[in-house]
Amino acid sequence: MEVLEKSEERVKVHLKGVSRAYANAIRRIVLSEVPCMAIDEIVILENSSIMYDELLAHRLGLVPLKTDLSRYVLPEDCDCENPLGCPKCRVLLVLDAESKEGVKDVVSGDLRSEDESTIPISPDISIVKLAAGQKIKLEAYARLGKGKEHAKWQPASVSVLKPTSEEDTGDDYTLEIESVGSLSASEIFVKAVEILNEKLQKFNEKSRSLKK
Ligand SMILES: [Zn+2]
Repeated sequence: MEVLEKSEERVKVHLKGVSRAYANAIRRIVLSEVPCMAIDEIVILENSSIMYDELLAHRLGLVPLKTDLSRYVLPEDCDCENPLGCPKCRVLLVLDAESKEGVKDVVSGDLRSEDESTIPISPDISIVKLAAGQKIKLEAYARLGKGKEHAKWQPASVSVLKPTSEEDTGDDYTLEIESVGSLSASEIFVKAVEILNEKLQKFNEKSRSLKK
């Protein structure tokens, strides 16, 4: 394996001596199984904007959030077994905005997170416009999830595999990953390989139990 290009947003790795099936499995896991944070539930305390509650929830779900994978676990893997979650599997963000006069553009930077490691990747993402006198107050709960569940939990916008040379030899590929911004591109790659190895490990244990 050789790293050809590496930045926060983009990573390009050369996989030599790696089968197409294995390389392609990494590519797919990048999109469907590497978890990241997204807002999943909201409790609206007040909404006098013209935007329906459901649409507001949808908009908030699509705001990419910085993700610290060392700090949180997927709700299904959490030992709290609490449907409401706990500090290991859920983060609360509060939005409390009001327009006293004129039009106010409510943006992602108006979300107040209880954890500084879980904030929008950019403060400038527009959520809703408020006319004078309108108000929004809500609690938003973010959690880890996977892209196969919903695209809002997809940490990469691009995951492409190509044969390194023009002729496909079946064991020489280049994988290119572009991050949405929740995780760095290299974190996504490393996590995808980790997930694939865990799967192979489990497969190995199962197949060994056949011998008994
Ligand atoms: Zn929990």
